[in-house]
Amino acid sequence: MREAGKVVAGVLNELAEVIKPGITTAELDRMAEEYILSKGAKPAFKGLYGFPYTICASVNEQVVHGFPSLRKLENGDIISIDVGAEINGYFGDHARTFAVGDISDELQRLLDVTSAALAEGISVARSGNRLSDISHAVQDYVEKSGYSVVKDYVGHGIGTKMHEEPQVPNFGRPGRGPRLKAGMTLAIEPMVNMGSYHVQTLLDKWTVVTSDGQPSAHFEHTIAITDSEPVILTLP
Ligand code: MG
Repeated sequence: MREAGKVVAGVLNELAEVIKPGITTAELDRMAEEYILSKGAKPAFKGLYGFPYTICASVNEQVVHGFPSLRKLENGDIISIDVGAEINGYFGDHARTFAVGDISDELQRLLDVTSAALAEGISVARSGNRLSDISHAVQDYVEKSGYSVVKDYVGHGIGTKMHEEPQVPNFGRPGRGPRLKAGMTLAIEPMVNMGSYHVQTLLDKWTVVTSDGQPSAHFEHTIAITDSEPVILTLP
């Protein structure tokens, strides 16, 4: 899983270098696929439930599952890129929201809060805690910051499949659900809306957007629970 995590972290680091006004999300998809194949890994989203691409590319008010397209990114946009890879039967899942050129302070704060909410969730992903302690930590941080967490989509167990039990919601009361144990591997992935938490799916049946049209950000790491600190597997 470390190997798979390294591949998806490498993808996002490479895309970070080229995300600029004028590039299309289809070009980002092609680069991601080439990178994954060059590492002897497979794009894990392609074909999963029928999703046709290597990355999910979700711009501005798009929350998750956006299709790469000929849309050119513009200065001031934000783009969430989610990518999965499989190597030797093990999976990694990773997402980040990037600034395109110069973004407003308001959007930068949305990115910072979402990334920090992920860190808050990871910080309590410890042996002996309960699953919903992660959910609660994420929700609490996001709502104290004045934003909302998406409720219709959640994190998940991951390992020899991309999506395994248990689901990892980004909201809920603490102290519930299974007790966390060393060796569990989870994808924690807050999706944070600047406005209300309500989302809807476009007619392409994939692209999820905020119902109020306000921007949304998404950060995700695959992590392993140990007897001490949680270990982030999606690092270069
Ligand atoms: Mg995921």
